[in-house]
Parts: sequence; structure tokens; C-alpha cells
Amino acid sequence: VSKTSAQQGVNRPRTESLPGVPILLYHSVSETATPAYRPFAIDPETFALQMDVLIASGRTALTVGQYVSLLRSGAELPERPVVLTFDDGFRDFREFALPVLAVRELRATLYLVSVYIEEKARWLEGLGEGDRELLGWKELCECQAYGIELGSHGHSHSELDTLPLVEAQEEIVLSKHILEESLGTEIGTFAYPHGYHDRRLRAAVIAAGYTSACAVKNAVSPFGDDPFALARITVTSDLSLDRFCDLLDGRGVPRAWQRERLATRAWRIYRRTRARRHHRLEPAAGQP
Ligand SMILES: [Zn+2]
Repeated sequence: VSKTSAQQGVNRPRTESLPGVPILLYHSVSETATPAYRPFAIDPETFALQMDVLIASGRTALTVGQYVSLLRSGAELPERPVVLTFDDGFRDFREFALPVLAVRELRATLYLVSVYIEEKARWLEGLGEGDRELLGWKELCECQAYGIELGSHGHSHSELDTLPLVEAQEEIVLSKHILEESLGTEIGTFAYPHGYHDRRLRAAVIAAGYTSACAVKNAVSPFGDDPFALARITVTSDLSLDRFCDLLDGRGVPRAWQRERLATRAWRIYRRTRARRHHRLEPAAGQP
């Protein structure tokens, strides 16, 4: 298997017993959601239970930035690492997720859509959630003060792989710039909207000066994973606590590489072809 230079820069840590690191992807933590969006809204009580289970299993939660920089430096990882990520920057993160994380001293990365900060999740209109509120700048500063890492999730949550490259580059560069200007901090990590990415987008993320990027893939991120397309596992509301434990231990969850080859690439190519033919696409499958 040939590896890119960026992949070769990542050292294999000494912990051999684990298949890799589970990088969990959350969206909303709230009690209310439309039926179509329900899978992506975790009940606050369930979320707190999951975090207790995670601690009880001896896991250390890292931000994406911490994880990638440990891998790059070749330093030893905590014995049972886990990475927590939240996409979209919903206001409910501050209300329900942050108190749970803060009291347990858990770190996490929160990915933001720069044009919609202080506004509403307009891109979720198709799922009946176009009015879901997003965090404002002041709340984001509070999140940072609790050790939450902030990252970019694009400027407008567009499906970047279907845009002309120049427009996709603009989304990637502009969002970093806006977040850095407004928050006064460096934004080092990116999450591809809907998880859609390809080689051109990966290159654009590197050129924009990010040091890591998250994809989705619903698989454990293997040691040596591409730091610019890290595999994440979506936590959905139908996940039982037993299944959550399995997932933390990598049981019943594929490792990223095989899976990526089999399904995602074909789907991506199909979508891109369709996007060229029709101007507008059907809603993205899987990730809102
Ligand atoms: Zn998103």
C-alpha cells in the first residue's frame, strides 16, 4: 500500500493492543428534534451517561489538535485515547454538552460554520431544522475558556466536492480567516461538511494552513490514518449504551481503510458526476 508523505509523517504509537483511536462525531445534544433529524440529536441525559461510561472505561479524551500533534511528534499517547468532536456549532452545545464535559474535565473539538455563527442552521431546512440556533461569538469564547478546541466546518456548509475547486478553496480559506479574526486564535483543524472530501480538497486544506482535517467514514481511525482525512464514527440517538461501549473498544466497527475503498469512493464519484449534470443535488446521504 503506498502512502502519501503526510501519512508517513505520522508515527505509530507504542500502544499495540488497540486497533486505533475512536474519534466520535456528535451533532446536536438536545431533547427536541424533527423526526428526520432525530438520529443526530442526542438526549442530554444519554450524553452524560455516555461520558460517564467513557471515563469508567479509562479513556482519556483529546481534542483533534492534541491527538494529531501527539501522533506527529511520536510522543506516547494516553493509554486509552478517544477524540470527541461536535459538528455544526449548535447553541445546545453550550447549554447541554459543555457543562457535562467541563465537570468531567473532558476535552473536545467543536467545528463551526463561519457564515452562520450567531444565526440559524439554514442548511438543515430540508430536515425541518432550518431554525436550529447556532452559537454566537461570546459563547464560543466561553467554550474556548473551558478547553474546547474550535475548528472550521467550512464557510457555508456546502458540499465542497461538488463545487468548482476555486469556490471550495474559498470556503476553506475564508472560514479559517473569519474564525481567526473574530476569535483571536489560530484555527488548526477542519471538518469536511457532510464528510465529503477528495484529493483536491485535502490539498486545499493543507494549502490553507490547517494541520488536520476530519472526514466521517464511520470507522475507527487506525494508527497511521491520514491526518487530513481522519476517520470518525457518528454517534446517533438510536445507539444503546452497550453498543456505545463496544464502539469505544472498536468492537463491531470496521477500521477505516477497507471501508473507504469499498463504499464511499464509489458514492462520491457518483455524486460528483450527478452534480455536474444537474445543478442541484438531492440532500446529502448520511451526514446532515
Ligand atoms: Zn455539518
